Amino acid sequence: MALALGTTSDGTEVKLWYLPGEAEQAISGTAYLTPSMDFFEQTYGPYAFGDVVGSVSVRWGQGRFGGMEHHPFWHVASEAIGSPEIHAHEAAHGWFGNGVRIACWEDFVLSEGTASYLAARALSPQGINLWPDYECRLQRVCGDERINTVARPAGCNAIELRDHPLWSDVPYMKGAFFLKQVAELVGADTLDDSLSSFYRERFGTAARMENLVEHLRSAFPSESLRIDAIANGWLYQRACPSVPDQGCR
Ligand SMILES: [Zn+2]
Repeated sequence: MALALGTTSDGTEVKLWYLPGEAEQAISGTAYLTPSMDFFEQTYGPYAFGDVVGSVSVRWGQGRFGGMEHHPFWHVASEAIGSPEIHAHEAAHGWFGNGVRIACWEDFVLSEGTASYLAARALSPQGINLWPDYECRLQRVCGDERINTVARPAGCNAIELRDHPLWSDVPYMKGAFFLKQVAELVGADTLDDSLSSFYRERFGTAARMENLVEHLRSAFPSESLRIDAIANGWLYQRACPSVPDQGCR
Protein backbone atom coordinates (compact mmCIF):
# COMPACT_ATOMS: atom_id res chain seq x y z
CA MET A 1 0.00 0.00 0.00
CA ALA A 2 1.26 3.45 -0.84
CA LEU A 3 0.72 6.67 1.03
CA ALA A 4 1.76 10.23 0.13
CA LEU A 5 3.40 11.73 3.22
CA GLY A 6 4.07 15.26 2.03
CA THR A 7 6.23 17.52 -0.11
CA THR A 8 9.40 19.33 0.95
CA SER A 9 9.97 23.03 0.29
CA ASP A 10 12.25 22.02 -2.62
CA GLY A 11 9.29 20.12 -4.10
CA THR A 12 10.43 16.56 -3.29
CA GLU A 13 7.43 14.25 -2.83
CA VAL A 14 7.86 11.90 0.12
CA LYS A 15 5.98 8.59 0.15
CA LEU A 16 5.61 5.42 2.13
CA TRP A 17 5.03 1.90 0.86
CA TYR A 18 3.96 -0.49 3.59
CA LEU A 19 2.77 -4.06 3.93
CA PRO A 20 -0.66 -5.25 5.05
CA GLY A 21 -1.12 -4.98 8.80
CA GLU A 22 1.58 -2.32 9.22
CA ALA A 23 -0.42 0.87 8.64
CA GLU A 24 -0.40 2.19 12.19
CA GLN A 25 3.30 1.54 12.87
CA ALA A 26 4.42 2.64 9.41
CA ILE A 27 2.51 5.91 9.59
CA SER A 28 3.82 6.75 13.07
CA GLY A 29 7.40 5.83 12.03
CA THR A 30 7.27 8.13 9.00
CA ALA A 31 5.56 11.06 10.74
CA TYR A 32 8.91 12.89 10.82
CA LEU A 33 10.19 11.87 7.40
CA THR A 34 9.05 14.80 5.24
CA PRO A 35 10.42 17.42 7.69
CA SER A 36 13.64 15.38 7.89
CA MET A 37 14.01 15.37 4.08
CA ASP A 38 13.29 19.08 4.13
CA PHE A 39 15.97 19.60 6.81
CA PHE A 40 18.55 17.66 4.78
CA GLU A 41 17.76 19.59 1.59
CA GLN A 42 17.83 22.98 3.28
CA THR A 43 20.86 22.23 5.45
CA TYR A 44 23.20 20.12 3.29
CA GLY A 45 22.15 20.78 -0.31
CA PRO A 46 19.72 19.70 -3.02
CA TYR A 47 18.63 16.05 -3.11
CA ALA A 48 20.03 14.41 -6.22
CA PHE A 49 18.12 11.20 -6.87
CA GLY A 50 14.84 12.52 -8.27
CA ASP A 51 11.77 14.32 -7.02
CA VAL A 52 9.86 11.34 -5.61
CA VAL A 53 11.36 9.46 -2.65
CA GLY A 54 10.24 7.23 0.14
CA SER A 55 10.51 4.34 2.54
CA VAL A 56 9.61 0.86 1.30
CA SER A 57 8.82 -1.75 3.91
CA VAL A 58 10.55 -5.09 3.33
CA ARG A 59 10.26 -8.40 5.14
CA TRP A 60 13.77 -9.44 6.02
CA GLY A 61 12.72 -11.77 8.81
CA GLN A 62 12.89 -11.72 12.55
CA GLY A 63 15.68 -9.81 14.21
CA ARG A 64 16.63 -7.97 11.03
CA PHE A 65 16.22 -4.43 12.30
CA GLY A 66 17.42 -1.61 10.06
CA GLY A 67 17.27 -0.42 6.50
CA MET A 68 19.12 -0.24 3.20
CA GLU A 69 19.81 2.98 1.37
CA HIS A 70 18.48 2.18 -2.09
CA HIS A 71 17.75 5.78 -3.12
CA PRO A 72 15.30 7.19 -4.00
CA PHE A 73 13.20 4.27 -2.65
CA TRP A 74 15.14 3.05 0.35
CA HIS A 75 14.20 -0.10 2.21
CA VAL A 76 13.19 -0.29 5.86
CA ALA A 77 12.88 -3.66 7.58
CA SER A 78 9.32 -4.44 8.51
CA GLU A 79 10.48 -4.80 12.13
CA ALA A 80 11.85 -1.22 12.07
CA ILE A 81 8.94 0.38 10.22
CA GLY A 82 7.78 2.19 13.38
CA SER A 83 11.21 3.72 14.07
CA PRO A 84 11.54 7.39 13.07
CA GLU A 85 15.32 6.98 13.40
CA ILE A 86 15.62 4.32 10.69
CA HIS A 87 13.53 6.31 8.18
CA ALA A 88 15.59 9.47 8.81
CA HIS A 89 18.86 7.50 8.72
CA GLU A 90 18.10 5.89 5.35
CA ALA A 91 16.97 9.25 3.94
CA ALA A 92 20.25 10.84 5.18
CA HIS A 93 22.21 8.39 3.02
CA GLY A 94 20.95 10.43 0.05
CA TRP A 95 23.65 12.89 1.12
CA PHE A 96 26.30 10.64 2.70
CA GLY A 97 26.70 7.09 1.44
CA ASN A 98 24.93 7.63 -1.87
CA GLY A 99 25.29 11.35 -2.70
CA VAL A 100 28.92 11.20 -1.61
CA ARG A 101 29.96 7.55 -1.87
CA ILE A 102 32.64 5.72 0.09
CA ALA A 103 35.88 4.99 -1.73
CA CYS A 104 36.75 1.85 0.25
CA TRP A 105 34.98 -0.49 2.66
CA GLU A 106 37.32 0.87 5.33
CA ASP A 107 35.46 4.21 4.90
CA PHE A 108 32.15 2.68 6.01
CA VAL A 109 32.17 5.19 8.89
CA LEU A 110 31.93 8.08 6.41
CA SER A 111 28.57 6.70 5.30
CA GLU A 112 27.15 5.21 8.51
CA GLY A 113 28.59 7.54 11.15
CA THR A 114 27.52 10.60 9.17
CA ALA A 115 24.04 9.21 8.40
CA SER A 116 23.58 8.45 12.12
CA TYR A 117 24.66 11.97 13.03
CA LEU A 118 22.41 13.52 10.35
CA ALA A 119 19.39 11.52 11.56
CA ALA A 120 19.92 12.93 15.06
CA ARG A 121 20.28 16.46 13.64
CA ALA A 122 17.06 16.17 11.61
CA LEU A 123 14.96 14.69 14.40
CA SER A 124 16.17 16.95 17.21
CA PRO A 125 14.16 20.05 16.15
CA GLN A 126 11.14 17.73 15.85
CA GLY A 127 11.43 16.80 19.52
CA ILE A 128 13.14 13.42 19.13
CA ASN A 129 16.48 13.06 20.88
CA LEU A 130 18.42 10.06 19.53
CA TRP A 131 21.51 10.65 21.67
CA PRO A 132 20.45 8.69 24.80
CA ASP A 133 19.90 5.65 22.58
CA TYR A 134 23.16 6.30 20.69
CA GLU A 135 24.96 6.54 24.06
CA CYS A 136 23.72 3.09 25.00
CA ARG A 137 24.72 1.70 21.61
CA LEU A 138 28.15 3.27 22.05
CA GLN A 139 28.41 1.83 25.55
CA ARG A 140 27.63 -1.63 24.14
CA VAL A 141 30.28 -1.53 21.42
CA CYS A 142 32.92 0.03 23.66
CA GLY A 143 32.31 -2.44 26.44
CA ASP A 144 32.49 -5.59 24.34
CA GLU A 145 35.93 -6.79 23.33
CA ARG A 146 34.39 -9.02 20.68
CA ILE A 147 32.68 -6.07 18.94
CA ASN A 148 34.94 -3.09 19.45
CA THR A 149 37.31 -2.26 16.58
CA VAL A 150 38.83 0.91 15.16
CA ALA A 151 36.14 2.73 13.20
CA ARG A 152 38.40 3.56 10.27
CA PRO A 153 40.96 0.78 9.68
CA ALA A 154 44.01 1.46 7.50
CA GLY A 155 44.02 0.34 3.87
CA CYS A 156 41.61 0.40 0.98
CA ASN A 157 39.44 -2.60 0.17
CA ALA A 158 41.82 -4.90 2.00
CA ILE A 159 38.72 -6.14 3.83
CA GLU A 160 35.44 -7.69 2.72
CA LEU A 161 32.97 -5.86 4.89
CA ARG A 162 30.43 -8.66 5.36
CA ASP A 163 33.14 -10.97 6.68
CA HIS A 164 34.93 -8.39 8.79
CA PRO A 165 34.39 -7.26 12.40
CA LEU A 166 33.86 -3.70 11.05
CA TRP A 167 30.38 -4.91 10.02
CA SER A 168 29.03 -3.81 13.40
CA ASP A 169 27.58 -0.81 15.19
CA VAL A 170 31.10 0.61 15.67
CA PRO A 171 31.22 2.79 12.50
CA TYR A 172 27.67 4.02 13.16
CA MET A 173 28.28 5.12 16.72
CA LYS A 174 31.95 6.12 16.79
CA GLY A 175 31.34 8.11 13.59
CA ALA A 176 28.30 9.85 15.07
CA PHE A 177 30.16 10.69 18.29
CA PHE A 178 33.13 11.97 16.28
CA LEU A 179 30.85 14.52 14.59
CA LYS A 180 29.01 15.29 17.84
CA GLN A 181 32.31 16.17 19.52
CA VAL A 182 33.34 18.35 16.58
CA ALA A 183 29.92 20.05 16.84
CA GLU A 184 30.55 20.72 20.52
CA LEU A 185 33.84 22.35 19.52
CA VAL A 186 32.74 24.52 16.59
CA GLY A 187 28.94 24.66 16.95
CA ALA A 188 26.42 22.31 15.35
CA ASP A 189 25.17 24.87 12.80
CA THR A 190 28.71 25.72 11.74
CA LEU A 191 29.51 22.04 11.39
CA ASP A 192 26.39 21.65 9.24
CA ASP A 193 27.72 24.38 6.92
CA SER A 194 30.96 22.47 6.58
CA LEU A 195 29.19 19.14 5.94
CA SER A 196 27.15 20.96 3.31
CA SER A 197 30.23 22.30 1.52
CA PHE A 198 31.79 18.81 1.62
CA TYR A 199 28.61 17.35 0.09
CA ARG A 200 28.42 20.04 -2.60
CA GLU A 201 32.11 19.64 -3.50
CA ARG A 202 32.11 15.86 -3.49
CA PHE A 203 28.64 14.93 -4.72
CA GLY A 204 28.73 12.12 -7.27
CA THR A 205 32.23 11.04 -6.28
CA ALA A 206 33.74 8.55 -3.85
CA ALA A 207 35.54 9.94 -0.82
CA ARG A 208 37.64 8.68 2.04
CA MET A 209 36.96 9.41 5.70
CA GLU A 210 40.21 11.35 5.93
CA ASN A 211 38.91 13.68 3.18
CA LEU A 212 36.13 14.70 5.56
CA VAL A 213 38.53 15.09 8.48
CA GLU A 214 40.81 17.23 6.29
CA HIS A 215 37.81 19.27 5.10
CA LEU A 216 36.86 19.99 8.72
CA ARG A 217 40.45 20.85 9.66
CA SER A 218 40.65 23.40 6.84
CA ALA A 219 37.18 24.78 7.59
CA PHE A 220 38.21 25.40 11.20
CA PRO A 221 41.97 26.09 11.02
CA SER A 222 42.22 27.42 14.57
CA GLU A 223 40.76 24.11 15.82
CA SER A 224 42.67 21.80 13.50
CA LEU A 225 44.80 20.26 16.25
CA ARG A 226 41.74 19.58 18.37
CA ILE A 227 39.90 18.10 15.37
CA ASP A 228 42.90 15.83 14.79
CA ALA A 229 42.76 14.68 18.37
CA ILE A 230 39.01 14.04 18.17
CA ALA A 231 39.48 12.11 14.92
CA ASN A 232 42.29 10.04 16.39
CA GLY A 233 40.19 9.19 19.41
CA TRP A 234 37.03 8.14 17.60
CA LEU A 235 38.29 6.88 14.25
CA TYR A 236 41.84 5.60 14.40
CA GLN A 237 42.20 3.97 17.81
CA ARG A 238 40.32 1.02 19.23
CA ALA A 239 39.72 2.29 22.77
CA CYS A 240 36.76 4.65 23.07
CA PRO A 241 37.79 8.19 24.10
CA SER A 242 34.80 8.44 26.41
CA VAL A 243 32.00 6.11 27.28
CA PRO A 244 28.76 7.58 28.56
CA ASP A 245 28.03 6.64 32.12
CA GLN A 246 24.33 5.98 32.18
CA GLY A 247 22.05 3.09 32.86
CA CYS A 248 21.40 1.16 29.65
CA ARG A 249 19.51 -2.07 29.24
ZN1 LIG B 1 23.02 3.32 7.16
